[in-house]
Amino acid sequence: MRLDVLSIFPDYLAPLRLSLIGKAQAAGTIRLSVHDLRDYTHDRHRTVDDTPYGGGAGMVMRPEPWGEAFDDLLSTADGDPRPLVIVPSPAGIRFNQQLARELAIEPWLVFACGRYEGIDQRVFDHTATVARVIPVSLGDYVLNGGEVAAMAMIEAIARLIPGVVGNPESLTEESHEDGLLEYPVYTKPSTWRGLAVPEILLSGNHAKIDRWRRDESLRRTARQRPDLLQELPATELDKADLAI
Ligand code: SAM
Repeated sequence: MRLDVLSIFPDYLAPLRLSLIGKAQAAGTIRLSVHDLRDYTHDRHRTVDDTPYGGGAGMVMRPEPWGEAFDDLLSTADGDPRPLVIVPSPAGIRFNQQLARELAIEPWLVFACGRYEGIDQRVFDHTATVARVIPVSLGDYVLNGGEVAAMAMIEAIARLIPGVVGNPESLTEESHEDGLLEYPVYTKPSTWRGLAVPEILLSGNHAKIDRWRRDESLRRTARQRPDLLQELPATELDKADLAI
């Protein structure tokens, strides 16, 4: 997968060189490039923002550097498929595991990280004539810029690409993969500070362990995220589920 990130703070994205995402880049599974939006300015101060038309607080990102950056990026397409442009924004559609799965099969994603009060709307109206553009929100709160949101999305998306996470089975057993939160997990020692690991996990009875995990998963979801249980289609529940 090709990934491009546009930002006025390219150093923000440095942690993506670490751990599994860093290894995936070294292995060529993902090709990540971070571009400095200020490279597309032409004045001495490398200006990217200006006051909002209509008045109001804060500054808005000017369209020209963004337009040039997109022209430059898209001209590198060379018969590649057109990219999907993701605009991190609190006004976007909510990012979740389902969307991460859909994005993980895209060949090329571009993240346009805004700052200040956001990016002049015409950038997206124009870019939408040559690429698909979707605003995506990390959640119902406001960050200072799109970089942290882009990083979170890239990590969630990239780990679903085959080969990025060593053991693919660990992906299917995670929270949100089956619409539920994951059951509690334990490791050695079997007793720590007077707290024992649930007996069933030491039993070696895998059918019973699976049932216990499923019950814990349902209980935790009911307690912490009842909204997820309500969204779960009835076909995803078995008779034993309905008994708890
Ligand atoms: N004025 C904008 C609004 O109310 O929708 C918020 C601008 S915010 C201070 C600056 C930038 O941070 C946004 O352009 C966006 O790139 C990013 N951002 C802030 N909150 C976000 C969120 N919840 N999800 C994704 N990106 C976010």
